[in-house]
Amino acid sequence: MPALDFSPRRRHNQRMSSAAPARPLVPETFTARLVEARLLGPRVRHLVFARADEKPFEFEAGQWVQLILPLADEKGRALRRSYSIASAPNGSSRFELAVTKVDGGPGSTWLHGLEPGTSVEVKGPAGTFTRALDTAAPSLFIATGTGVAPFRGMIHDALAKGRTEPLWLLFGVRTPDEYLFRDELEALATKHPCLRLEPSLSRPPPGWTGRTGYVQTHVKALWSELTASHPGARAYICGVKKMLTAAREVLRVELGVDRKQVHLEAYD
Ligand SMILES: Cc1cc2nc3c(=O)[nH]c(=O)nc-3n(C[C@H](O)[C@H](O)[C@H](O)COP(=O)(O)OP(=O)(O)OC[C@H]3O[C@@H](n4cnc5c(N)ncnc54)[C@H](O)[C@@H]3O)c2cc1C
Repeated sequence: MPALDFSPRRRHNQRMSSAAPARPLVPETFTARLVEARLLGPRVRHLVFARADEKPFEFEAGQWVQLILPLADEKGRALRRSYSIASAPNGSSRFELAVTKVDGGPGSTWLHGLEPGTSVEVKGPAGTFTRALDTAAPSLFIATGTGVAPFRGMIHDALAKGRTEPLWLLFGVRTPDEYLFRDELEALATKHPCLRLEPSLSRPPPGWTGRTGYVQTHVKALWSELTASHPGARAYICGVKKMLTAAREVLRVELGVDRKQVHLEAYD
């Protein structure tokens, strides 16, 4: 679990685009109230928070927040857990998270039991896993599970601002009921042809005609297709390290993609 680290070295390593705007060195700590919650899938809860002071919550699509939970860590301090913001900035005080319930995990279990109306301390926003929209390149987003959260924010942000560059989402889940935000994403893709959805199921039901297996097995074909017409495309990969490493290997080692074109956000 990384602490918030804004040292120059960390900022350099995290920097996703040299064109990304400067961000404040010290993220703000504020109180947020859970205003809505619903299950998105068997193990994922969608949480909508609002700043208690009702000020607009300013962030860039793809950033994350740290929740300071009323639980003790192994050293007796408040337990802190980070979550990607699953929504796009819209000038309101609200922001959304999608939290996977990890077996035996104290933070995610607590968040799955959180009652609407309850307040939580939040530190953020933080992170540089973002697309600077003024220079944004066609993008291949690669996610498993709640790794889709920052991409939901980036997709909404780009489409709301009238962007039309290709936005391709390769999204790996086990079964159709784990396909988070499916109806919403499909509606957006129908309306915006630049958004292409490539779900891949590792445990497909009979009759499934889409992609199957782990996401990394589809990276080569999709990247080659995208860069055939858009050589400056970017790949963004988000989720647990095992998938992240496998997908990155395909891009960097097998295909020789420049490191500046591959952006990573690890959840563990
Ligand atoms: C920058 C950042 C952004 C993150 N964004 C999200 C997010 O949007 N949604 C989210 O659910 N989690 C996210 N996480 C992970 C989150 O911070 C916690 O690690 C997770 O909720 C587990 O905490 P816990 O206390 O329940 O379990 P812990 O006891 O801390 O268990 C940690 C274990 O959970 C596994 N794990 C962590 N995250 C996941 C996951 N999403 N799916 C499956 N296994 C996981 C790890 O491999 C690790 O072994 C993010 C982490 C980082 C660093």
